[in-house]
Amino acid sequence: MKALFAAAAALVLSAGATLAQGYPNKPITLVVPFAAGGPTDVIARIVAEPMSRTLGQQIVIENVAGAGGTTGTTRVATAAPDGYTIMMGHMGTHGAAPALYPKLKYDPTKDFETIGMAAGTPILLVAKKDLPPKDLKEFMAYAKAQSDKLNLAHAGVGSVSHTTALLLNNQLAIKPSQVPYRGTGPAMNDLVAGQVDFMTDQIVNVVSQVKAGSIKAYAIATPVRSPALPDVPTTKEAGLPDYQVSAWNALFAPKGTPADVTAKLNDALVKALADENTRKRLLDLGGVLPEKDQQSQAWLKGFVAEEVARWTPVIKAAGATAE
Ligand code: ASP
Repeated sequence: MKALFAAAAALVLSAGATLAQGYPNKPITLVVPFAAGGPTDVIARIVAEPMSRTLGQQIVIENVAGAGGTTGTTRVATAAPDGYTIMMGHMGTHGAAPALYPKLKYDPTKDFETIGMAAGTPILLVAKKDLPPKDLKEFMAYAKAQSDKLNLAHAGVGSVSHTTALLLNNQLAIKPSQVPYRGTGPAMNDLVAGQVDFMTDQIVNVVSQVKAGSIKAYAIATPVRSPALPDVPTTKEAGLPDYQVSAWNALFAPKGTPADVTAKLNDALVKALADENTRKRLLDLGGVLPEKDQQSQAWLKGFVAEEVARWTPVIKAAGATAE
């Protein structure tokens, strides 16, 4: 009987080993749980290119948008754990969402294997270029005076733009009308067109529009300015020092994906983050590259647990309405 178990175990082990040896032998699907053209999509495409060269297989981006990113994330949580379906999750899908969706069908800390952090993304308060306030102080006064007339764009309940705006609305005691999109890519199009008034968005989605003058940025919610937008003041400099918030985007695989497969994916990501051209593309957009010790699978696992724990009380305090 013992021998039988040993043989069975050996069989399972060798199946796992064979999988990783030949892996990847077909294209990998990288699910982006938001619309194309937004921050998560942009980061996914930037890192997928060099990763695919390292892995010798195509990485196909699939945008599965909806419900603030939780639709695509649920899809990946229940996908075959074979390394051929992975995803770019973020501070919303793998941090804030559990606090906003009591019936969420996945647990960010239990239903995924971590691959690695791709980029940190500071948050900026941006507005359509014709919004009257010239700076953050004027915006605060303006928003308080007519908050019900203001339209806030975001990427759905639980997304980064939604949760970071919740914090802002709570601090300013304002209640703008909310306009949800399938990602801040399409939301940005409407902000540029002047169809919505403001948004709190990840830096990689705003840099080129701010530089082109097609939207305005009131402040960046980090302790220091971003080298990608050196003229934009911090919230501390501009008069709202307590509004401090940053997001991040990271790669995940379904729970049960073999360890040697996720190790291969991590290795490809680490190599991508060391590639000069990839670094430049992320840095030019204001992305914050993870330090060497923040590039491991174990680090991301610990970080996700901290993020979920951190966001739950913050969202409760902001009085956010759940489902
Ligand atoms: N990251 C989302 C996107 O790519 C937006 C968000 O979470 O606010 O559109």
